Amino acid sequence: MLYDSIKIVLSRATNAGGYMDHPLFAGDVKTGGYNQLFNVYDRAGEPCTRCGTAIEKGEIAARKSFYCPNCQKVNTASRSAAVPAE
Ligand SMILES: [Zn+2]
Repeated sequence: MLYDSIKIVLSRATNAGGYMDHPLFAGDVKTGGYNQLFNVYDRAGEPCTRCGTAIEKGEIAARKSFYCPNCQKVNTASRSAAVPAE
């Protein structure tokens, strides 16, 4: 299910021009075309397109992360299992 969704979203995003901000060459008007189509990324405080809950911003490994706290609940069981024992 996730695998199928990733294929769909990646295809849609690359066809639209991806998310990069800077053109790759003079006259490049396609690069970054997907920036306006994000459902979650860079939309902190805006309503989730699925349920209307405000999108939250977090940070994972010094990278910005955006999620809907209603649609993307934390699974504490799998989360703790994924952390290697020290
Ligand atoms: Zn949601």
